[in-house]
Amino acid sequence: MNQTQQICQRVIDTAIALADQGFLAGTGGNLALRIDAKTFAITPSASDYYTMTRDEISVLKLADLSQLAGSKPASVEKGLHAKVLLAFPDCQASIHTHQPIASAFTLLNQALTIRDDNHRTILGNQVPIAGYAPSGTSWLTNNVARLLRADIHACLMRNHGVICWGKTVEEACQVVTTLEQAAREWFQDILHTQTRRNNPALIDQIQQALAG
Ligand SMILES: [Zn+2]
Repeated sequence: MNQTQQICQRVIDTAIALADQGFLAGTGGNLALRIDAKTFAITPSASDYYTMTRDEISVLKLADLSQLAGSKPASVEKGLHAKVLLAFPDCQASIHTHQPIASAFTLLNQALTIRDDNHRTILGNQVPIAGYAPSGTSWLTNNVARLLRADIHACLMRNHGVICWGKTVEEACQVVTTLEQAAREWFQDILHTQTRRNNPALIDQIQQALAG
């Protein structure tokens, strides 16, 4: 296998690993891996990750998104991934998911402030939110592009999902899982705070039950 074939295989392996964890529902979500300074490999549009073959993976030019290889059309989010890979030349991987909890958080139309110190080392202090635009449009790409800064590692996209990136594939996958955990804790905190306000007796009961 040459280097490009190896990276195309890595796209498949990573997509399956993310799908196994429930981060890529159905054919939703997509991911891109840098091949070199000028080209990247990306999942094809609307394909089943479990039956995808290496020659279906699209190889595109970063500069103009022209397709150099791959038997299927590239993901509609190719422009979004190219923008991330161009903005962060030291990043190898860009992953877009519709992961359940972080995607639910995007309905709130607010940035996610990261409170946990361990999460902060992976996600930074805040994950910003890009304004809504339809999937696969330059409008969406531009909404995300204007938020890209060196100190962020992911971006929420309103009413849609998230995009995460990393210097390695492992790092990008870790951003995906940590973001899901941070969003889960945010909802748990809110639930706890609201319950305390509206039904403090329930919290007392729970605490007594936990104290056993
Ligand atoms: Zn999407």
